[in-house]
Amino acid sequence: MRKDGPTGKGINTRLTHSGNNPSDFFGFVNPPVAHGSTILFPDTATMVSRGQKYTYGTRGTPTTDALAKAIDELEGSAGTVIVPSGLAAIVVALLSFLKAGDHLLLVDTIYFPTRRFADTMLAGFGVDVQYYDPLIGAGISELMKPNTRVVFTESPGSNTFEIQDIPAIAAAAHAGGAIVMMDNTWATPLLFKPLDYGVDISIHAATKYPAGHSDILLGTVSASARYFDQIFETFVTLGACSGPDDVYQVLRGLRTMGIRLERHEKSALEIANWITGQMGVGKVLHPALPGNAGHEIWKRDFSGSSGIFSFVLEGASIEQAHAFLDALEIFGLGWSWGGFESLAAAVSLADRTVSKQDYGGPVIRLNIGLEDCADLKEDISKGLRAAAALS
Ligand SMILES: *Cc1c(COP(=O)(O)O)cnc(C)c1O
Repeated sequence: MRKDGPTGKGINTRLTHSGNNPSDFFGFVNPPVAHGSTILFPDTATMVSRGQKYTYGTRGTPTTDALAKAIDELEGSAGTVIVPSGLAAIVVALLSFLKAGDHLLLVDTIYFPTRRFADTMLAGFGVDVQYYDPLIGAGISELMKPNTRVVFTESPGSNTFEIQDIPAIAAAAHAGGAIVMMDNTWATPLLFKPLDYGVDISIHAATKYPAGHSDILLGTVSASARYFDQIFETFVTLGACSGPDDVYQVLRGLRTMGIRLERHEKSALEIANWITGQMGVGKVLHPALPGNAGHEIWKRDFSGSSGIFSFVLEGASIEQAHAFLDALEIFGLGWSWGGFESLAAAVSLADRTVSKQDYGGPVIRLNIGLEDCADLKEDISKGLRAAAALS
């Protein structure tokens, strides 16, 4: 096995073998979970020159290196830092490049806590935060200002799943001298590789599909060579390092992520197609369905879809949406997603400013887990009947 992993091989081969080199650890298939703050130096000269691979636990360990190398292999990035949550990954990326007086363009369909961070802390520090329509494409050039430092994308958008024209946005942003960041959590690097489409910094909530079992919070920030040093500097400056057991569990999760995603994709598509036309169901918001905002771009740029989408409970009241949710027995009511179990939630879109629209009823988000589809459909039918009974 090559030391740098099986570059150029199929995706499941890379998921299986990327990261560590077993012969570095006496042949053990998996890397050790390095619990460590202090790392000893053999002598003062090495201590002063920092002349060894590891110097202090906050800066990296064999465990974090194994996961970072595996992610680099998937993303095609020059370097990756591992941080304690997906939100922390977004914060580290933004703080790496923004200062007072800079202009930040954020997509309006952004994950809500990203918006909260931008509107409270970044705005408080003197960053000019502006939102743009997810379907803006090349038109973003009209919003670029001389001080636009970062254009932040998330595709598909949270909860309503609009696909952005990333190459067009990246070209316009770069022409204006800005850095392009993307929250790529929905697709994982298996279904979309941001750096191949002009993105400079790719961000993941590894909490979702990489962890896959609803038991870990972790985030990753992967950058091209031009920007990685600054990301690493911010990571060290903030002390945003993660616990080794969680890092190890995400590396473990990666090994099965390919086959899990195949199943999530298949089941989510089956349910999205089936639910279209069921009693009381309006628009189904899934990027792989024709008619979804940005569907043609999804076909052009993505190699598949994952397991979370939304649908509209047509003409229903919020009480009916709650009746739907409360009737579910297999779907859990909960946030987050990407785990093995199905989840449902009524999502609020009240934070939207430039892409506000009337969907004609409450929007319900479904995370399709690894259960049998027939059981999930029966559960959803029960929910739809409960909602209809209230009208
Ligand atoms: C969940 C999520 C995050 C945040 O991840 P945490 O690990 O829960 O902080 C960021 N972006 C998107 C799109 C998410 O769905």
